[in-house]
Amino acid sequence: MIVKKSAAEIDRMAAAGAILVRALALVEGKVRPGVTTGELDAAAERFIRSQGGEPAFKGYRGFPGSLCTSPNSMVVHGIPGSYALQRGDIISVDCGVILDGWVADAARTFAVGPVSPVARKLLDTTKASLMDAVQQCRPGNRLGDVSHAVQARVEGDGLSVVRSLVGHGIGRDMHEDPQIPNYGPPDRGPALEEGMVLAVEPMVTAGRHAVRMGDDHWAIYSQDGSLAAHFEFTIAVTAEGPRVLTPWHEATD
Ligand code: MG
Ligand code: MG
Repeated sequence: MIVKKSAAEIDRMAAAGAILVRALALVEGKVRPGVTTGELDAAAERFIRSQGGEPAFKGYRGFPGSLCTSPNSMVVHGIPGSYALQRGDIISVDCGVILDGWVADAARTFAVGPVSPVARKLLDTTKASLMDAVQQCRPGNRLGDVSHAVQARVEGDGLSVVRSLVGHGIGRDMHEDPQIPNYGPPDRGPALEEGMVLAVEPMVTAGRHAVRMGDDHWAIYSQDGSLAAHFEFTIAVTAEGPRVLTPWHEATD
């Protein structure tokens, strides 16, 4: 069942989102060769708590971090730790914040210094696919329009959509109905209605779409070792159109 939110509830989710995007901006400002993913995680957790929020991922099904930090061929769910970023890496950072019982969820992939042309294209296309998807999050469309927008952009650019991982509804729980695949035909699935809030999250590889589980039973990698990127917004469907609750925020430090 898709739980719709009132305008006041969406405002509360936006407040969680505002903390989240500032945490990601802080992380972005610290991304450089030599910094460890554990250091990024600690900084994000400190900031989120300083703002009265709670890191949504910490303890979720036993996950130990406040961020998921997923470098290079890792798609999602990387546990922060001793890995030190290297020049030329890409690093996906996913974060969730709970404020007053409402959750926001967002991810970005950052470049560590100059990256290869393949990596640059992967980041640009994945981000563009999310922006295309946002434009579909309006009353009168159907969920398949969102999924299809991601797939059309990604495959049009010669890249692959990870198929076994999906976005989701979000609200009081981080993962609510509906599941939101990043591929599929347009004009299918549930009708989008005012008050729905969606975490749309294209996960894209520069190779093929298959993924594999890592030895820690958390990290998920592209099966072929190709680079992977992940961008995610929490988006409310409103009468005025899509409202991104986790908007871009300039890097800070
Ligand atoms: Mg996320
Ligand atoms: Mg999510």
